[in-house]
Amino acid sequence: MNFPIPVVHTVAEMRAFVQARRAGGERIGLVPTMGALHTGHLSLVDEARRVAERVIVTIFVNPTQFGPNEDFTRYPRTLPADCEKLAGVAADLVFAPAVEEMYPSGFCTTVSLEGPAKAELEDHFRPTHFTGVATVVTKLLNQAQADVAVFGEKDYQQLLVIRALARDLDIATRIVGSPTLRDPDGLAMSSRNVYLSAEERARAPALHRALSEAARRIAAGEVVGHVMGEAREAIVGAGFDIDYVEARHAETLARVARRHDGPIRLLAAARLGATRLIDNVAVPSE
Ligand code: AMP
Repeated sequence: MNFPIPVVHTVAEMRAFVQARRAGGERIGLVPTMGALHTGHLSLVDEARRVAERVIVTIFVNPTQFGPNEDFTRYPRTLPADCEKLAGVAADLVFAPAVEEMYPSGFCTTVSLEGPAKAELEDHFRPTHFTGVATVVTKLLNQAQADVAVFGEKDYQQLLVIRALARDLDIATRIVGSPTLRDPDGLAMSSRNVYLSAEERARAPALHRALSEAARRIAAGEVVGHVMGEAREAIVGAGFDIDYVEARHAETLARVARRHDGPIRLLAAARLGATRLIDNVAVPSE
């Protein structure tokens, strides 16, 4: 297939690209994704570009991070459209490996963490998820040997998991977090938003609205438990089924009872019909 940007499918080809650019004194930025790209993903490319002359975007729908009843098979796969968008932001290379390239026969190693990966939240509802994420991200970081890798705050617990594994495994790539891009009504951009019906899409911004309101009230000194209870009521009132809506320490994800136990991050996952949305916001510091 002809793409408007170089696309490689093997680790060897990506490494050859990296080595050639490095030899020319250029720095490499890595943006791992599962494709179905939207403006939020493209903002990560811009972030990488700030510190690196060359940006590699990886597109891999990683089977090991999906649970048995999750949407692995129906996850949107849109490589040609993704490449058009990446050409538009002048990304330099797409690495789109097949499952067999990432997990050849005989593959038998996984990376799993305690700490942020075991702080409940996503782990409680998706107990195999972070081992899948940690394993594939460790592989991608080792494969690319980039100077910097950019991940979205949208997946906040995932960002903390990746920071922890990079630190603990002495991975030299610098991990950078990048803010969540939102639609004008506040809904966090997500590849999964395409699953929402028109009626669900109209309700969806209530999740971010409730979190933002709660963050504002906690920052103003109101009692955390009380505010979070009202946030849950507002989210249920908008038609969501809640997995969790919680206030946690922004670095450790430990539970927080008072504003001064912070910095605080409010994190939520809730379902509208069959679609599961996640979001999080910072409580502004004093
Ligand atoms: P995904 O392919 O959607 O799992 O995400 C790939 C990367 O994009 C992850 O680092 C996500 O946190 C990040 N990302 C996803 N949605 C957004 C968004 N709305 N704004 C910024 N980054 C995002």
